[in-house]
Amino acid sequence: NEYPSFSKSVIVCTVISSGGGLGLVAYGDAVQSSSDNAKERKKKVVILGTGWAGTSFIKSMKSTSYDIHVVSPRNYFAFTPLLPSVTCGTVEARSIVEPIRNISRKSGVNIEFSEAECYKIDPKNRKVYCRADPEKKMGGIEDFSLDYDYLVIAMGAKSNTFNTPGVQEHAFFLKEVDDALRIRQKVVDLFEKASIPSIPVEEKKKLLSFVIVGGGPTGVEFAAELHDFVHEDLSKLYPSLKSYVKITLLEAGDHILNMFDKRITEFAETKFKRDGIDVKLGSMVIKVSEREISAKDRVTGKVGSIPHGMVVWSTGVGPRPEIVEFMKQVGQSNRRALATDEWLRVEGSDNIYALGDCATINQRKVMEDIASIFSKADKNNTGKLDVKEFHGVVDDIIERYPQVEIYLKKNQMKDIATLLKFSQESSVTVDIESFKSALSNVDTQMKNLPPTAQVAAQQGAYLADCFNRMETCEQYPEGPLRFRGTGRHRFHPFRYKHFGQFAPLGGEQTAAQLPGDWISIGHSTQWLWYSIYASKLVSWRTRALVVSDWGRRFVFGRDSSRI
Ligand code: FAD
Repeated sequence: NEYPSFSKSVIVCTVISSGGGLGLVAYGDAVQSSSDNAKERKKKVVILGTGWAGTSFIKSMKSTSYDIHVVSPRNYFAFTPLLPSVTCGTVEARSIVEPIRNISRKSGVNIEFSEAECYKIDPKNRKVYCRADPEKKMGGIEDFSLDYDYLVIAMGAKSNTFNTPGVQEHAFFLKEVDDALRIRQKVVDLFEKASIPSIPVEEKKKLLSFVIVGGGPTGVEFAAELHDFVHEDLSKLYPSLKSYVKITLLEAGDHILNMFDKRITEFAETKFKRDGIDVKLGSMVIKVSEREISAKDRVTGKVGSIPHGMVVWSTGVGPRPEIVEFMKQVGQSNRRALATDEWLRVEGSDNIYALGDCATINQRKVMEDIASIFSKADKNNTGKLDVKEFHGVVDDIIERYPQVEIYLKKNQMKDIATLLKFSQESSVTVDIESFKSALSNVDTQMKNLPPTAQVAAQQGAYLADCFNRMETCEQYPEGPLRFRGTGRHRFHPFRYKHFGQFAPLGGEQTAAQLPGDWISIGHSTQWLWYSIYASKLVSWRTRALVVSDWGRRFVFGRDSSRI
């Protein structure tokens, strides 16, 4: 009521500060449901993928008002943070997977599942085209298509090779359960080969040279796991080979774990040095061949080669081919992931959602649009808007972005208070330039979310929650938050909550960076890691299996049979 140009249910405040403050929009909410359409046929929801995002969506789905069909080439969910442990047999592969049919059964909602991959999305005709694993050889009948009202794309990403020659052919990846099992086999295979009496010493050294490319959390954790496997188990079983083993970690940047605090990075680099893991920083891999890997030193430009028995490639992720194709269709061909709005809807589409590693929220665009709305309103370039114009601008912004809730530092709250005061006066000073520069600050705070399980799982749960409540406003799938004259409803946008991250470093030591920049490193953090990861496992069955695997490893060591 205090702000007559806004609808009753919406409280809006937007601040333009002269000192680099930034805007905020806050909201009241109203839910309006229309029961007229309640008896409509059930809407069809197709979900592509059973990874972190897809599974979290399925687990959180409570509404029975949809026909849900899940399509994924694997009929299980895999707890990827424990994949490095699978590569060395610390944990068994079956302990970290859960059949998707088990998960959907427990959700209490009727969900159909097809083990197949989607190879084409047709947004115009609202159809997805799928094929079952060609190896199943069902004579063509394995192809099928599904109609959808809503499509949820949660297909993840693939390992990014940056088109480096030879990587696809000669390197191992660590992305899927199969990859981890292949690595486990290969490590033992190399030890067995190297112990054949006729193999010369130089060849043994080559066979037991393990090169890991990428100093991110996955590469570092794998290097640590491999080091532990070699020194705690294999060296006892192959004592004559111990001195020939070499583990090299190549990182193109200046440090490993560069997304972590400096203290963690330094600790990890020092620990690896002490453990004999050769960390080569500033090394850009330019080629991988069957027996050698070539890297260029970023500073000197010198190219060197390392003979290897095995290369594990872990340098981040890129879009899957099906996603690249779909991005072309929706005019996003020059992007690295599907751009969505803050409600996880693919840009330019109102019934296709994308979440997890295959998607990215286009925060920058939101910010630019808001800045341009302000610029347009200030026709005479005076830097001032009267209260009516100001309210018009704010209305315009919330029309397009009903919950643009800009990340606000605490000290910017006073700017809002100032604005609220201004807005009741006859004119409001809008300093567009400082608003724009404030937006670039916002942009760095709202920068793209990392491709992690945490993000994917939260997005899945968020979207399921929106779908669960959609029934209250069937007409407008965005859901109920605000009700304006035209009858538009919206949900709160997706907001990510960061709970911290771990970097296991081997030797029963882990580093943790928790919210508030709380850093913890060492043996006690390893126990924190054990307890958090055990609690995050998807079911009591997997929890029991993983904990017993850890116990087995403590008592009997890792199994080195090549089966
Ligand atoms: P995914 O989990 O990759 O799932 C994608 C799904 O889509 C899969 O079911 C796949 O089979 C399916 N799919 C693929 N192609 C198709 C198709 N054509 N049609 C239909 N379905 C398809 N994150 C953390 O937060 N913490 C960690 O400790 C951590 N550790 C990790 C360790 C490793 C070794 C790896 C590889 C990743 C780790 N991550 C971690 C990252 C995390 O696993 C990913 O960010 C997360 O899996 C992304 O979830 P997603 O659902 O988007 O994709």
